[in-house]
Amino acid sequence: MAKKSGKNTKYIYRFGGKKTDGDAKMKNLLGGKGANLAEMGSLGIPVPAGFTITTEMCTVYYKMNRKYPKELDAQIKEGIKHIEATMGAKFGDKKNPLLVSVRSGARISMPGMMDTVLNLGLNDETVLGLVEMSGNERFAWDSYRRFVQMYGDVVLGLKPQTKTDIDPFEEIMDKVKEEKGVKLDLELATEDLKELVKRFKSAIKERKGINFPEDPWKQLWGAVEAVFGSWMGDRAIKYRNINKIPHDWGTAVNVQAMVFGNMGDDSGTGVAFTRNPATGERKFYGEYLINAQGEDVVAGIRTPQPINKSTKSSADQKTLEDVMPTPYKTLEAIYKKLEKHYKEMQDIEFTIQKGKLWMLQTRTGKRTAAAALKIAVDMVQEKLIDQKTALMRISPDQLDQLLHPMFDPKAKKEVIAKGLPASPGAATGQAIFHADEAEALAKDGKKVILIRIETSPEDIGGMDAAQGILTARGGMTSHAAVVARGMGKCCVAGCGAININYKEKQFEVGGTVIKEGDWVSLNGSTGEVMKGQVPTINPEVSGDFGTVMKWADKIRRLKVRTNADTPKDAKVARDFGAEGIGLCRTEHMFFEGDRIKAVREMILADDVEDRKKALAKLLPMQKEDFLGIFEAMKGLPVTIRLLDPPLHEFVPHETPQQQDMADEMGVSLEKIKQKIDSLHEFNPMLGHRGCRLGIIYPEITEMQARAIMEAACELKKKGIKVEPEIMVPLVGEVKELQNQVDIIRRIANEVMKKYGVKVAYMVGTMIEIPRAAITADKIAEVAEFFSCGTNDLTQMTLGLSRDDAGKFLPAYVEMGIYKDDPFQVLDQEGVGQLIEMAVKKGRKTNKNLKVGICGEHGGEAKSVEFCHHVGLNYVSCSPYRVPIARLAAAQAVLRS
Ligand code: PEP
Ligand code: MG
Repeated sequence: MAKKSGKNTKYIYRFGGKKTDGDAKMKNLLGGKGANLAEMGSLGIPVPAGFTITTEMCTVYYKMNRKYPKELDAQIKEGIKHIEATMGAKFGDKKNPLLVSVRSGARISMPGMMDTVLNLGLNDETVLGLVEMSGNERFAWDSYRRFVQMYGDVVLGLKPQTKTDIDPFEEIMDKVKEEKGVKLDLELATEDLKELVKRFKSAIKERKGINFPEDPWKQLWGAVEAVFGSWMGDRAIKYRNINKIPHDWGTAVNVQAMVFGNMGDDSGTGVAFTRNPATGERKFYGEYLINAQGEDVVAGIRTPQPINKSTKSSADQKTLEDVMPTPYKTLEAIYKKLEKHYKEMQDIEFTIQKGKLWMLQTRTGKRTAAAALKIAVDMVQEKLIDQKTALMRISPDQLDQLLHPMFDPKAKKEVIAKGLPASPGAATGQAIFHADEAEALAKDGKKVILIRIETSPEDIGGMDAAQGILTARGGMTSHAAVVARGMGKCCVAGCGAININYKEKQFEVGGTVIKEGDWVSLNGSTGEVMKGQVPTINPEVSGDFGTVMKWADKIRRLKVRTNADTPKDAKVARDFGAEGIGLCRTEHMFFEGDRIKAVREMILADDVEDRKKALAKLLPMQKEDFLGIFEAMKGLPVTIRLLDPPLHEFVPHETPQQQDMADEMGVSLEKIKQKIDSLHEFNPMLGHRGCRLGIIYPEITEMQARAIMEAACELKKKGIKVEPEIMVPLVGEVKELQNQVDIIRRIANEVMKKYGVKVAYMVGTMIEIPRAAITADKIAEVAEFFSCGTNDLTQMTLGLSRDDAGKFLPAYVEMGIYKDDPFQVLDQEGVGQLIEMAVKKGRKTNKNLKVGICGEHGGEAKSVEFCHHVGLNYVSCSPYRVPIARLAAAQAVLRS
């Protein structure tokens, strides 16, 4: 499609009325907004006529050093002619002036990052035409003063120079209000608005040395230039860097006839979703404001009203359905048409001007995870989409929202208020009233609920840090609600009953006072605000979630296992669909109860005999653990890893605790200190750990192998199926593995002989040292399976300490040096190559080699997709990420 631009290049695409040049498929060229406006136009849906200047023009503009090709002028004139003809008004006309909006529109929405100019075309003459046309002098002059203000700021650059400067236009407004003795903008009379226009223009002349352009064509070119210019503004560049949007995409510019929702009580504006974005329920859902402009709804300053009965939450609300039945009927017909056409839930914006409905935008609606599942399942049942499409519509990462605890329905709760259920979830935390304080406390590990009258973009950090958000004002589409849903964070919005006092740092409701630091709980699914900490229970994969998981299981090739060290975790994971344990870290069992004492005795032992005595105490306890885990996994494979961490992790490092240990062991503090000093390592991650422990102290491996095999044999004898896989950690050289395998097999044979049963078991290794990946062909001659330990493999491949990188990694990611944190998202280019090499080389010498992954990456969607492509047999992740991995594994198949 990328034709070379030249003389005949089409830079302008019209929409609205009878002429529509583009369609929804042309998002790259027309931007998301422009493409969908064109699509609506060709569906016969009333959109104010307009045209889109292509993203290609933006690229050309920058290539030509911020200049335009000659032919653009004629094309823009054509575009304006189209609007004039369709809307029956004329650009710059004194009697019947056409006014337009000029907005940006990239391929992907970049909310608030680029510039917009409204009411363009007004000047001292055309404003009189607008007075005439609208029959509302105040409205016309208010539109004019807003235009001069917006244009002066966005296009002519009269804006505050520093963070502490006041906005020059606001300063003038305040002065005029003071002179008139009024407080609100609304109280200004028409004469005052005229005065404002005059003073705004003089300020522009004085401070910028520019006469405000009266010529609408000049105004238009200025606005187009400003929108293209804002693509390379600091804000936009930063946003693209964070969201990984290429800088060469460019933005489109949409020039569109203005329609006014603020022309009186027969006008209004609103936003709606074709289904409920919080629950997914198939009900038209939205909010509107009478006599208002679009910006007023999103700003959350006036609380909008529900559009219909199914959105209504209290009896005193006035719905659009009741107040303006005719435009509502039209809106209903349009939303049905749009959803059927796009086969997807839509987020729409509309304006009613003097009783006539106009559509301003449609796009795929953002939704919570619960809503995404319900919509996907419902749409399959409605035969709108097939199962595969449904699976691709759900973001695996988003499922995380559903995998966290929810309030126990049986728990006692004291509901003190009810607001709008803006974003589901269960949140408990201490009340905090300022975003920066929420951030600071969360950094100290505190759980907080951020409580605000309303939120603004400055509060983002605090919202992110909080467990949940509570606001007193604003509707389901207010800033707080939209942002919280995007973050997957619990939010109760528009809880009008609470009286917040920022100064006192408290709120009051029905006689109850909640002070800063008091515990509160929020239910984002019901809107309930509760006093105290309400207990939670674990979630379940049932209903729509269960259905989607079943569809995913039919398609995926990768098996999904879990990392679990206790029977309890194993059970949770199985309920989430885990098909085995991919990593059981035995050292986690060493800390519980009396065990740590035996472990410490083993560490303190001066010779083999003493060490064996201590290990003999540990044996029955370890066996007990394995019995529990094998039983919980009901015959599914269980990979048990031999002891891995350096021994100093099991001893205390402070004198009082060392004294306790000395007393308990009946030895002197000196002896304890000496031993602990001798365990000190400068670089413990590269020190005496992993298989190096079992090689130097073979009796440790013997004890662990015996505990595993005795547990397996005992169950086998009872007729319970077991599938143990014994895993040797941190191997870099095949001889290390051979050493351990010999011990394991010898003990296994002994135990099986003793019990008189045969258990099929496997012995394998982790691939977590680069050398192991490089020599995988040799290692696979000894190993029956590989499990890629990508935590250590990342650490060692990138030379990044797992324990220290947190100090600079976030900056690296922000600066774009690493695209993602390599400990969270697999570094496919580097570490991934090693995995691929290990799989290929390993299978060359051992064609039945089973290969999995058990590092943190095993539950991360993009990394799971990579694992699918390089041919792993399974991924293993924490219990709560099992469903995420199941979906990601299915999507990997569908995408390839
Ligand atoms: C790994 O290194 O990826 C791994 C799973 O082991 P651990 O995190 O216990 O070092
Ligand atoms: Mg490791």
